[in-house]
Amino acid sequence: MKKTLSMLLAVVMMAAMVLTSCGGGSEKIFLATGSETGTYYSFGIALGQVMKDKIGQEFGVQSTGASKANIQLVADGDVSMAIVQNDVMDYAFNGTNTFAEEGAISGFSAVATLYAEVIQIVAKPGITSVADLKGKTVSVGDAGSGTEFNAAQIFEAYGMTFDDINKQSLGFTDSADKFKDGQLDAFFVTAGAPTTCITDLATSNDFVILSIGETEMQYLKDNYGYYTEYTLTAGTYDKQTEDATTVAVKATLIAADTLSEDTVYNVTKGIFENVEAIKATHAKGAELSADNGVQGISVPFHPGAEKYFKEIGKLS
Ligand code: GLU
Repeated sequence: MKKTLSMLLAVVMMAAMVLTSCGGGSEKIFLATGSETGTYYSFGIALGQVMKDKIGQEFGVQSTGASKANIQLVADGDVSMAIVQNDVMDYAFNGTNTFAEEGAISGFSAVATLYAEVIQIVAKPGITSVADLKGKTVSVGDAGSGTEFNAAQIFEAYGMTFDDINKQSLGFTDSADKFKDGQLDAFFVTAGAPTTCITDLATSNDFVILSIGETEMQYLKDNYGYYTEYTLTAGTYDKQTEDATTVAVKATLIAADTLSEDTVYNVTKGIFENVEAIKATHAKGAELSADNGVQGISVPFHPGAEKYFKEIGKLS
């Protein structure tokens, strides 16, 4: 009797859990972002807040190792959405670059591009070029990040490889901390600017942001189609006295193929109909637009996103 009762109770509790997680007719979305001192994370929190307020969609925002790790998390069904770089998304979908060995990754599709992610090479004063990094201790980003891809390609443009530096694979927070302590000569950050870890660093240390030379810039554009030239204007950070000419890629929202068409449609529509509210919550919201959102995407759109963009005439 006792056993039957507790079994009954368990069934009732499970039913209650299923009902709550489907509350309001929508699935809770788990969103993979990046380091807490990067931009994905704070943008993800802002997005989650606005989506909850405006369309009643719940978001659980998780800090992760960023792009490459995020694609894997979506593919494995650990999260239902993620922010990733559009270049890394392409490599994963097509099984190229470092995905050549492990093969193409499936189970995810694109929702929209969000804002520019700037490749920022933070270096000790006195270092003036990527070429100067030879023999230096340099963090090229977390092992699961997109930053590492960009660092490798930039060194390649300079005829260098990771073998030419004392390579450290640190996330943004650790990179900035070690730089503060003088244990690093430079570190790479690919993220929406200003990026928290660099803004924080500017309160204590002097640094320069390296520019990419003209020849190397051309090499990058010729060989890796996702790069666009980007001027990081002086004053983006307190200690930054000169413009830096660098490259940028795009932060892109992706969804698991298993996430329903309705949910993704509602979120896509929710984002582009509430740009002002997102902008008021996070500075990068200023770059959001449906026109830009469909640009820079080389993998199939999720049916929910496609439905919205077709409806408003941004996709045919
Ligand atoms: N784009 C970065 C990466 O995948 C992460 C950026 C961020 O956390 O804002 O390495």
